[in-house]
Formats: sequence, C-alpha cells, structure tokens
Amino acid sequence: MAAAVWWWNLRAARRSPYAVRMKRLLKATNVGGVIDPGDLVAVKLHFGEHGTTAHIQPLELIPVIDFVRKAGGAPFLTDTNTLYVGQRGESVSHALQAARHGFDPNLLGAPVIIADGLKSGNERAVPMDGRHIKTAYLAGDIVDADLLVTVSHFKGHELAGFGGALKNLAMGCATRRGKMHQHGGLGPEVHPEHCTGCGACVAVCAAGALALDATSHRITLNRGACVGCAACFLVCRHRALVVDWRTDISAFLERMAEYAAAVLRSRPRPTLHLSFVRAVTPGCDCLGYSDAPICPDIGVFASWDPVALDQTCLDRVNAAPPLYPSALPEGLAPGEDKFHALHPGVRGEHLLAYAEGLGLGSRDYVLREIAS
Ligand code: SF4
Ligand code: SF4
Repeated sequence: MAAAVWWWNLRAARRSPYAVRMKRLLKATNVGGVIDPGDLVAVKLHFGEHGTTAHIQPLELIPVIDFVRKAGGAPFLTDTNTLYVGQRGESVSHALQAARHGFDPNLLGAPVIIADGLKSGNERAVPMDGRHIKTAYLAGDIVDADLLVTVSHFKGHELAGFGGALKNLAMGCATRRGKMHQHGGLGPEVHPEHCTGCGACVAVCAAGALALDATSHRITLNRGACVGCAACFLVCRHRALVVDWRTDISAFLERMAEYAAAVLRSRPRPTLHLSFVRAVTPGCDCLGYSDAPICPDIGVFASWDPVALDQTCLDRVNAAPPLYPSALPEGLAPGEDKFHALHPGVRGEHLLAYAEGLGLGSRDYVLREIAS
C-alpha cells in the first residue's frame, strides 16, 4: 500500500513563513496524537562535524521542538558518537561541537543528550532476526526514549550513495560497536607504519587483541580475538588504527536496513521522520566541509514510513535539474541518478529495496503537499 509523504516546497510568503509551514506539516502528520504528557521525545539529528555548514540548523528545529512541547512532550536533541576520530567521537567533544554549531538549550528549549554515553558504553543489545544481524547494538537513551522523531538532512554519502531517514536510524542510533557491526569489519585497518608505540590502544582493548611487537614496538592485531568494539580508533591519534571502509557495499546496505529495522521494532510507538532536502551536498555531514549543492533546494518532507520518505527524496533529487558548478559530472540530465553519478560503486536504491523486503515500509508513496 502506498505510504503518505507530506511536504512543502521552500517558497514562502509573509503569511506563511518557515515556522508556520513547519507547524502545518507536523499537524498534517498528526504527530501530536501520539505524544502523551511527559513523554521524553528523542529528536535524532546530526549536529554537523566541525567545518560542515549544510547540516540541520538550530533555527530549523525550533518549530519542531515547540510543537512537541505544546503536545505535552519533553524533547531532547540527540545523536550518537562516531566511529572515526573527529569532533564527535566521544560525548564531551560531541556536545561541545553541537554547542559550537548553535544547539543551545537556552535558544532551543531542548538539551543535547548524546544517546550512547561518554564513550559509547550506554548500549542496549536488541535482538534482530536479520540475514546479517542477530543482535543490534543501539544507543541506550534512544531505546529508552518514549518517542523518537528523526530529522535528517538528505544528501549524498560516500558508502551508502545517499543519506536520509534510514541511515539516520541505522547508523545514527547505533553505538560505535553497532556502527562497526554494520560496516562489517571485525577489526580496524592497521597501519603499523604510523604507530608510535604509545600503547594507548592496547590499554583500552578489553579483548586483548592488540599488542606491541617486541622488536619493532609497533602495533599488531590478533583478528581472531577482536570483537569489533571500535574502542581503539578513538584513542589512536596517529591514524595507525582506522575504520576499514573496504566492505561489500550491498551487504553493508543490507546490514544498515536490518539495524534500522531493529531500531523501529524496539519502539513501542511509531516514529515520525522528517527530511530536509536543501543544500543537497555530494557527501555526508561528517566530512568536515560542505561541498556545493548538486540540485536546487526542494523542500521539507515528513512521513511515518522511512522507506517511502527516502524514496520520495531520492526521486525528487534525481528529477531536479543538476546544479553546476558542483561535484556532479558535466552533462547530467534531469532524471539521471545523481548519487550514482557521484558514487559509481554504490546503488543506494538497494537499501530501499531491502528495507521494503524487511517490512520497514513501502517504496510506493502518495505525496501530499502542504498548502502555502
Ligand atoms: S594508539 Fe596508535 S600509535 Fe599508540 S600504540 Fe596504538 S596504534 Fe600505535
Ligand atoms: S575493535 Fe575493540 S576488540 Fe578490536 S582491536 Fe579495537 S579495541 Fe580491540
């Protein structure tokens, strides 16, 4: 059955500025009907890596937070710590980065809570009957929240093709171990040539999989002992232990879909998903910069169905005229797959097809435009 996707284009007028339109969009979804008084509502977004500018902006969230509050909920803004070492690899730097990007509770009326704890140890093991995933490792505070609303910036992604609601659920709600699990690597990529022999990673490896070679004093990994917890990436400041991005992309997308399913199945109530299709950059908001957009700004979309929502956003981006100068190859016509042109090794639609097969939603959708 076709799923409803509500949206508004970005044209505005004095009588319908941004906040009014966002309120209309949220009212149309009837999200107020699922919020009970006192509910702790996790608003899951990406605060943007240091140097990024295209991520969801604090001011864009104010109407969402106000709407949740007026419906009786207590919203908090949340994300999880990253696998790679950047400004968001542990909660202290992560919360500081959110503050530097303006996510201030005094301004927004909602605090920032990093959902997987200080060093990603706030974790829940959630059973999942997937082809790849039998146990999903999810952020404790997202599992514990009474209600979840995802807010995604729809854009390209180097490994997934594009990033939207499903990726925000799958990677975004997983602990560092869960992220590594999805990447399929059971251990880090090791570069002993960069190792200084400081021993910091050996000290954090609870599995005893890391050791310094007695002769070279450089790092060695016992892959058989590694449990893929990802703790070592965080402490190595010399890029001797990094994420192993070389992985089977189809299997990676399937693992992501299974993680998204685990998140949604762990929730007693439905989850609303919002996607902002504006500043559609070729790469994700983790990169530390925002490249020129690949198409004109399109609008804000909402659905209870993350598959339908991602399919809608993908179709709208691909149907739009390509924007130049950008990272897109010259001569692309409207209708051609922009993300595949950017990331030729990836067909992100496999994620949608696999997620649909898992019963996460429908690729058929009905667009309902919010009146201006
Ligand atoms: S933390 Fe990095 S530099 Fe230090 S021993 Fe481990 S791999 Fe080598
Ligand atoms: S991923 Fe975890 S278990 Fe594996 S080497 Fe790193 S710290 Fe040790």
